[in-house]
Amino acid sequence: MGEFPRRPTKEERDLLDFVVEANPDHAAALHSLFRNTQVTQLCSCGCGSPHFSVDTSDVRKRIWPHPLPEEAVALVEGALMMAMLWADLDGGNLEIN
Ligand SMILES: [Zn+2]
Repeated sequence: MGEFPRRPTKEERDLLDFVVEANPDHAAALHSLFRNTQVTQLCSCGCGSPHFSVDTSDVRKRIWPHPLPEEAVALVEGALMMAMLWADLDGGNLEIN
């Protein structure tokens, strides 16, 4: 196991940005939340889903129906990939299927 918190890998960062950009209604707030995000842990089941810290300095009382489920489906190198981001003011979790 690596040490946490750590900076997201490029792949984790790209996926996170992809899901954020796929949800334009909340993209600005989500970009703010995840601006300096760190990976705080990986899901203990072994699936590799990263948990992210959030920066709430710009997003104070602005809370969505929570947790905010945002999903995106992408074709990555020929494989269908679905990612769902759960974000609230306590943290974010990106589930990758
Ligand atoms: Zn898992």
